[in-house]
Amino acid sequence: MPEYIDIAVNLIGSALEKNISDVIQRAAAQRVSPLIVIGSEINESAQAVKLCLDYPQQLYCTAGVHPHHASEWQGDSAKQISALALSPQVVAIGECGLDYNRDFSPRPMQRQAFAEQLALAVEMQMPVLMHERDAHQDFLAILKEYRSELPGALLHCFTGDRQSMEAYLDIDLHLGITGWVCDERRGLELAALVPDIPDNRILIETDSPYLLPRSMRPKPKSSKNEPQYLPYIAEYIANLREQPKEVFAQQAYQNSVDFFGLQQLNKTCEKEGADEVS
Ligand SMILES: [Zn+2]
Repeated sequence: MPEYIDIAVNLIGSALEKNISDVIQRAAAQRVSPLIVIGSEINESAQAVKLCLDYPQQLYCTAGVHPHHASEWQGDSAKQISALALSPQVVAIGECGLDYNRDFSPRPMQRQAFAEQLALAVEMQMPVLMHERDAHQDFLAILKEYRSELPGALLHCFTGDRQSMEAYLDIDLHLGITGWVCDERRGLELAALVPDIPDNRILIETDSPYLLPRSMRPKPKSSKNEPQYLPYIAEYIANLREQPKEVFAQQAYQNSVDFFGLQQLNKTCEKEGADEVS
């Protein structure tokens, strides 16, 4: 039976917040574990770290400021993120990047917050989890300045076109694919691109509670997406790639373990646990 890691779950400040333990259990029942909880601003990242302590080895998280929150970026923000990122539960800096689709924060602020978080990731030698909507050129220009020194760089929820995909693969990004690809209206372009992502560069995610896969039948009663639906997305992508679903799921799992260094982390946590007993 294949296992899955959901690399982007919005558990805090979202519709899933009230029933976190149920969400984790329903996911685990479908062999989706661990989950990576997204930190999209500083308070939320701090809450995410705390939450991970309640669910050891079931939850890990990121620490960062999403472009939607870039207007809250301040002089000491990078320092606050770096303090959080010292916790072993934090497996990446982010979610950071640029979103010119919604433009919830002024673009110059978005660029500054993004660049400073990339610099922080370089300094701490941690991977970054990034977001980009309708901002390909600026995103690429900023990222290129830091890419060679970053240990890993993941663009989550990739929804761009062929040209941007090729540019991102050229600078050796990992690409996260969501249930967006199952959307019979807006997911068609992505569905055509997914077969061309190299085996060792593709990761899968739900981005719950957003982006419930539109093609699921029967339709889940709740319109909220959950990590438990990741195997459905994985199978959908495997079919597009013409790969056996078990083979694809295993590859995506291994890519996630490698990218976030989860293997090593499990060992450290086990060791810490053992130390506590003695
Ligand atoms: Zn995002």
